[in-house]
Amino acid sequence: MSTSGKLISEYRIAIQSLRDGKYDVAFPADENDEIGKLGHDLNELARALERRFDEAARVCEISEEITAGLFLDDVLNRLYDSFRKIIPYNRIGCALLNNEKNEAVAYWTKTDAPQVLLKAGFTASITGSSLWQIIETGQPRILNDLETYLAEHPASVTTRLIVEEGMRSSLTWPLIAQGKPVGLLFFSSREKNAYQNVHQDIFLKIAGQISLLVEKSRLYQQMSELNGELILAQRELRHQATHDALTGIYNRRAITELLEAQLARARRHNQPLAVVMLDVDLFKQFNDTYGHHAGDAVLKAVSTRMKESLREYDYIGRYGGEEFLVVLGDAGYDMAAETAERLCRAVRDEAVVFDGKPLDVTISAGVAVAENPTGLDPDKIISAADKELYTAKSNGRNRVEVCRI
Ligand code: GH3
Ligand code: MG
Ligand code: MG
Repeated sequence: MSTSGKLISEYRIAIQSLRDGKYDVAFPADENDEIGKLGHDLNELARALERRFDEAARVCEISEEITAGLFLDDVLNRLYDSFRKIIPYNRIGCALLNNEKNEAVAYWTKTDAPQVLLKAGFTASITGSSLWQIIETGQPRILNDLETYLAEHPASVTTRLIVEEGMRSSLTWPLIAQGKPVGLLFFSSREKNAYQNVHQDIFLKIAGQISLLVEKSRLYQQMSELNGELILAQRELRHQATHDALTGIYNRRAITELLEAQLARARRHNQPLAVVMLDVDLFKQFNDTYGHHAGDAVLKAVSTRMKESLREYDYIGRYGGEEFLVVLGDAGYDMAAETAERLCRAVRDEAVVFDGKPLDVTISAGVAVAENPTGLDPDKIISAADKELYTAKSNGRNRVEVCRI
């Protein structure tokens, strides 16, 4: 084979390798003739293809890593870790546009510099500004000498802060998701001239995806925050619907429902159950003598003391004005009577202080004990306790009366 024939067959083998995706080929380029120059050019082409391929692979890798983030902060933190592979920076900042799209609000920053001067929450009007131009044109901007830029634009507060943080060049990307501007991404470096056209090319490849991701994760974050608030509001509403506003214990409806549930449980387990109806003695006199606020203070103190002297699995509710209902699960005659006495003592033993004055408060209690609650309905047990309460009042108040049903 002739020399040129041998060269051509070497070229064809190298081209075959390129076609198979092997870019580390070497075309013969020793000869200083036209074929040698062609070999040199083909080697450069192979290196350029290799670079492009690597870059595309890294862009894919990066978007995969970032896409795994759910919340905006997570997405941005991942972005900070991943982009290093293709863009140089010491700091990345993200600003979001407000709903009116006329202000950019600094949302997040990550940097290896010791301080952040341009902090989250920093708000700048963008109408007519250079940022506006970036968003309008959808084109990234490179400033490769921030100190000079600042000297020419001394009014730019953000540039001054970034320069004070130690940054010397910046690359700004507009974030535009499905045609809608959503924010800006700022890469900055301590080095002058850190950014080249190649970084703008990367932008073209990946910015659409990043923008969509920023917008999606922002909405997700917002939704999840709103959901959290909704859950709290729901919990609060449920509390309000089942609790008495003045005393904080269960209201009449809730304590009646609890009695029904406890009664069903007692039937299932064949256990006794007791109900205590309590009423503040001569309560009207506190209102009449010291005013309604005094009456309210007595009601609060009485409920707190009674609640504190009950077991964790007993229930207390405000049944009416100054009437309380207590449900004692798995309580027979002795335990129910003892508990009612304990409640009366808890109220009686210490005066309720209102406006610096000690008020002596007592309560009366009627207890109904169902040793075998089969076939018993809640109304019956409540009216039995109520009857006992009436007896306690007739017998002089500040006492407990108990019956079995
Ligand atoms: P007895 O020993 O027989 O139970 O006498 P009493 O004065 O406690 O009974 P009465 O039923 O005559 O009075 C109850 C009073 O409770 C009347 C009502 O105005 C008052 N009251 C009801 N709800 C509230 C409240 O939420 N706050 C205040 N301050 N008073 C209330
Ligand atoms: Mg009363
Ligand atoms: Mg009453």
